[in-house]
Amino acid sequence: MERTRVDVAILGAGVAGLEAARVLHEHEIDFVVLEARERIGGRIFSLRDESLPVAIELGAEFVHGSAPELREVACDAALTVVDIDGQRWQSQKGRLRPADDFWDGLNAVMSRLRTRGEDRSFEQFLNSSRRRDRRAREFAIQWVENFHAADPVRVSERALAEGGSPGDDVRERRLGRVLGGYDAVARWIARGIGNKIRLGTVVTGVQWEQGAVRIETRQLSGTSGGLEARAVIVALPLGVLHAAPGEPGTVVFDPPLARDSTKAAALDGMTMGAVAKITLRLREAFWASSRFARRAKDPNLDRLSFLHSPDRDFPVWWTSYPVSAPVLVAWRGGVRAREISAAGEDQAVELALSALARQFGLTRREASGMVTATWFHNWESDPYARGAYSYMLVGGNDAPAKLARPVRRTLFFAGEASDSEGRTGTVHGAIASGRRAAAQLLRVL
Ligand SMILES: Cc1cc2nc3c(=O)[nH]c(=O)nc-3n(C[C@H](O)[C@H](O)[C@H](O)COP(=O)(O)OP(=O)(O)OC[C@H]3O[C@@H](n4cnc5c(N)ncnc54)[C@H](O)[C@@H]3O)c2cc1C
Repeated sequence: MERTRVDVAILGAGVAGLEAARVLHEHEIDFVVLEARERIGGRIFSLRDESLPVAIELGAEFVHGSAPELREVACDAALTVVDIDGQRWQSQKGRLRPADDFWDGLNAVMSRLRTRGEDRSFEQFLNSSRRRDRRAREFAIQWVENFHAADPVRVSERALAEGGSPGDDVRERRLGRVLGGYDAVARWIARGIGNKIRLGTVVTGVQWEQGAVRIETRQLSGTSGGLEARAVIVALPLGVLHAAPGEPGTVVFDPPLARDSTKAAALDGMTMGAVAKITLRLREAFWASSRFARRAKDPNLDRLSFLHSPDRDFPVWWTSYPVSAPVLVAWRGGVRAREISAAGEDQAVELALSALARQFGLTRREASGMVTATWFHNWESDPYARGAYSYMLVGGNDAPAKLARPVRRTLFFAGEASDSEGRTGTVHGAIASGRRAAAQLLRVL
């Protein structure tokens, strides 16, 4: 018989909710984690293909920068994080050339973003700048759209200035990959608390007053249930908090979150960015072959890590370097990613195959003949994500800090969107937010 009364309910078993749970468990607090999906990890979603030596990462894939919270987990769990020290290339109409100036070009633009004065959009910032370094501006636009998954017309200049790029810090420019698959991070954080996680449990409502919360749930099987708690940690994606009542996955708060003026400002100050990511399994890692090197007139493509281009559909590609595998990932962030996702998986794959041909100077027939399998997850239409990850809108650079503030010692908030240290949209930011929310709650309990 499942218990119907606990001290703390944690909503969501992504790494933010799991990390909060881990800390509460350490302090012997009575809690449960309620998770809509039949798996933990949320936007970490790793699949395996037995013919490949790397995991297929449908969600998070990279360890960005120093990411101490994540490297700490990796170290405790004895997970191998490999550095991606390969070479970046750029493709212009199918002609490839090294992009060794990527970080410096990006920094030349991003270091001019203002942290003072009235906030503007990234596009307004670009238009106000008299410098006309076309290549550096292209890198910066690609970074904002593809790394931040943001719309340059809406994203806050100040938020980008306060941690939106690694600057000239080589440690923050580092990129790594969890070799055995990112889901090992979620599994490690959740070790020892498995019996407190209720999978397949969709939270539909939270009625609350100070010190007393009633949570309505629906099992994926259809049966309804409820749970009472003294406090709740809301570790749901921002997209779910934004969803209109009646939409699948929506949680109706009573009284509504937006009745609190700080929470209303937090929710208005951020939005979910969109990403379309397609993993392709190929007959061979063709870019590393001598045949392709002759054709591309460059023998050094075997260390290809990232390929950038101004392509409309899929401007960023990466290999599994340093692991040698016949895998390419096609990536698009921002407004176009939302359109591609809305077109559905078949159309998204078609667009990726055409882009593959354009980027690598292949015929469309050669490109599709090389692909033996594809993977795609539609994060836009996923009711329990409703987008890829958050970014701050003009005037909203303090929105994550506002989201992180507890309400009446009863509602606590975790999740990547509530990280106020410039790590929104990342796994390590989500872990840090869970740790912070648990600490806030422990002070109250
Ligand atoms: C395609 C993609 C690529 C990414 N790449 C990277 C990367 O390379 N590096 C990086 O650091 N970050 C990356 N990210 C971002 C990273 O995945 C997230 O920032 C992080 O995983 C968020 O963790 P979280 O716990 O805040 O949220 P989530 O992982 O989304 O967890 C929230 C949980 O709440 C559950 N939930 C939602 N609604 C309900 C409900 N009504 N009832 C019960 N449960 C509910 C969800 O199922 C989910 O499990 C990527 C994200 C995407 C989508």
